This record gives sequence, C-alpha cells and structure tokens, in this order.
Amino acid sequence: MADTPSFETVSYDDPAPHVARITMNRPKARNAQDLAMTYDLNAAFDLAARDEDVKVIVLAGADPHFSAGHDLSGDGGKTWRDFPMVGTWGGFDPAGAEGRFARESEIYQGMTERWRNLPKPTIAAVQGKCIAGGLMLAWACDIIIAADDAEFRDPVLEMGVCGVEFFAHPWEVGPRKAKEWLFTADWLTAEAARQLGMVNQVVPRDGLMPAVLEMAERIARKPAFALKLTKQAVNQSQDSMGRPAAMAQSFALHQLCHSHNMQVHGIPVDPGGLPEGMRGRFTKRKSDEAAE
Ligand code: ZN
Repeated sequence: MADTPSFETVSYDDPAPHVARITMNRPKARNAQDLAMTYDLNAAFDLAARDEDVKVIVLAGADPHFSAGHDLSGDGGKTWRDFPMVGTWGGFDPAGAEGRFARESEIYQGMTERWRNLPKPTIAAVQGKCIAGGLMLAWACDIIIAADDAEFRDPVLEMGVCGVEFFAHPWEVGPRKAKEWLFTADWLTAEAARQLGMVNQVVPRDGLMPAVLEMAERIARKPAFALKLTKQAVNQSQDSMGRPAAMAQSFALHQLCHSHNMQVHGIPVDPGGLPEGMRGRFTKRKSDEAAE
C-alpha cells in the first residue's frame, strides 16, 4: 500500500497482507455517525475497494463501543455542501419531507446499500454497544465477528419511528424475532445474535481483532475475482428474494414516521423516546423553521 491516507474521523491501515482496516475513530462520541464520518467511511471504503492489493476490508470501531448510531447532536456546523455527494437525488435544504428524504436517501439508506455491495469481502469487528445506525454499519459487512460483550439494539421505535433507515432486521434475524426485538427495543446479546445467524462468531473481547485478522488473512489467500463473484452471487440470491423492494418500502414508511412526528411534535422523532439529555439538542432544521 502507498502512503497511509488520513481522514478526520476514521483511521486506515493495513494490519495484514492484502487486508485493509477502517477504524471509526470518534470514541468520545461512541463512534456516532455524523456527516463527516459518513463521507470519511465512504472515501475509505472506496480507497480499499480500488486498491488492487487489498482483498479483504475490516470495519472496526475505536474502543469502548463499536457505534452508538447516528449522531443526533448534529453535524458540527457542517452541511451536505461540505462533502462529496454520491447520489443524485438532490441537496438536503428543502423544507419538510423533501430535504429529509434527500438526506436519508443519501447518507443512510444509499450509503449503507453502497457499502453492502462493495465488491470485496468485508468483516465487521463489533465490541460494546452497537445501536440503531450502528447496526446498519455492521450489517453492511459480509461477516460480523463480535466480542462477547457486544450488544445490539434498535430503539428507534421508542422515538416514534419504525426502525432504522436500512431496514434489514427481518433479513438478519428472521421476521418473528425481528418483531419481538423491535417491539420491545430490547438488547440482543452477541451470543443470541450468533444463534439467530446475524453474527458469525463470538470471541473474548481481547481476542476480537486477532480473530478478525485471522479470518481476514485466510480469506485474503483466496483468488480475488472468485471472492468478488461469490459475494455478488450471495448478495444477488438475497436480492432475488425481494430484499431491495422490501427495504425501499420500509424506507418510505420510515419517512412517513418522520413527517408524522414533524406534524405532531415539531421535530422528526417523538421526544418521549429520546435519550436523556438529548431532547433540548434535537432541534428543527433551519429550512423547516423558515417554512412555518
Ligand atoms: Zn430517519
């Protein structure tokens, strides 16, 4: 690999032959995903995908937690104009559902789908908490190896929204467990997630990265083109079962929830379900204030 590139919110290195590792590096924010991290992740994934020497990509989160989800406190004063958009839907400025649909299509549903379809095997190394949008980051990867302290949760229903934007729950844990998990907003332990098929392996916390790199190195010894085509074949098998259409429908319902909450509560989520300390920070967008 050439010079190690630098990003603001993620680190990038090559910890083993033909293996690239992308590490979310906002530990104080529990690796919450804001605009900057979204576009850093996308650039890092693209770099690894286009590097002919890289055959396997690892996604990790700086300790102590894999990811607390989307950063509900905002984007540090930055807007979509500060980043290289990937989709063509449009900017995030329009008031009401239009701007929100554009934003969530681009940075949540669109990016996660794009990373899910990167043409190289990806392995998520998950430790600690993996919440809501954090699930999307793990699910985008082909293989999930979890530390024994990892816990998974989507509490978005408590905020008056029908699950996260990338609605893979039924595909990841099966429809009946998905309903229970979403309705109760309970934690799913690493071992329960493994038994349901969402997680490949559970290992001791201090053995997480060694286990991930051991598997990455074994995969990286296989022929690159066959790996790409095998990933494509599995993804297309799942997609031919209707996954993309089902997830597009779920995304539309998710947007309906945001619009409903805007009408009833004046913000895109039900404030009753927001974490303590977050209620005052979740404010209206300027475009929505101007539209009133
Ligand atoms: Zn949303």
